[in-house]
Amino acid sequence: MSDSVLTVSGIEKSFGSHKVLKGLGVEAKAGDVISILGSSGSGKSTFLRCINLLEMPDKGEISLNGERLTLLAKPRQKPRVTDPRQVERFRSQLAMVFQSFNLWSHLTVEENVMLAPMKTLGKSKSEARETAHRYLNRVGVYDRKDYYPAHLSGGQQQRAAIARALAMEPKAMLFDEPTSALDPELVGEVLKVMRELADEGRTMLVVTHEMGFARDVSNSILFLSEGKIEKQGSPNDMFTGERSGRWGEFFAHTRP
Ligand code: ADP
Ligand code: MG
Repeated sequence: MSDSVLTVSGIEKSFGSHKVLKGLGVEAKAGDVISILGSSGSGKSTFLRCINLLEMPDKGEISLNGERLTLLAKPRQKPRVTDPRQVERFRSQLAMVFQSFNLWSHLTVEENVMLAPMKTLGKSKSEARETAHRYLNRVGVYDRKDYYPAHLSGGQQQRAAIARALAMEPKAMLFDEPTSALDPELVGEVLKVMRELADEGRTMLVVTHEMGFARDVSNSILFLSEGKIEKQGSPNDMFTGERSGRWGEFFAHTRP
């Protein structure tokens, strides 16, 4: 057995007659940081959402720590999951961080971080609080734990959202443009936390336009175009190798 944490292959997804994902795959071993690049509309968010089953893929295979997701495919029907508890398990082990933070506005920061571990992992209130405090400290927003999200800066909100993802003790973390909604001066504090998580050896899939992060932090880069992987490789391959076609155009507009 390899030390693969997440193996995804052949993911296809259509919305109506629009085929958005045309057979995408990715493999992450423990500690891998994989950046996913691509222009707007290329299918990056849909790909991440299919991986943690916020969208149900039409086709494809997903294995997490050796457990394979079972999709029940009947002829001429879209696949369904056979076991809702398996979906719940996959989702909680693939914690996602969104562009728009998605914190619950009616809960304090601490309550936001405590909620899923209590509901999904069955932690007691005191355990969940202890975990929340640890990770809020970890991302540097412990002093804001009793505030409501609206009273935090965007950078603080995103760091709280990262703490919420960490509190699930996920096998891998999925980030969907975590800094794209932030004012430029707040991007750095979030990227710093993400670099630290990468240094800790966490397994991460990161959709980003931060080419510096992709180059310096990830060990592998995928470039998506129109629902397919147009090019992939190490940062060195991608940034110093041949830059032709769509990757070349994309690179010319977004170089670090
Ligand atoms: P990206 O994240 O790379 O910008 P998306 O995955 O958000 O791209 O979108 C890829 C394509 O799928 C776009 O054309 C988008 O309009 C379409 N799409 C995404 N989600 C939906 C949806 N829920 N219903 C219909 N079309 C969608
Ligand atoms: Mg997107």
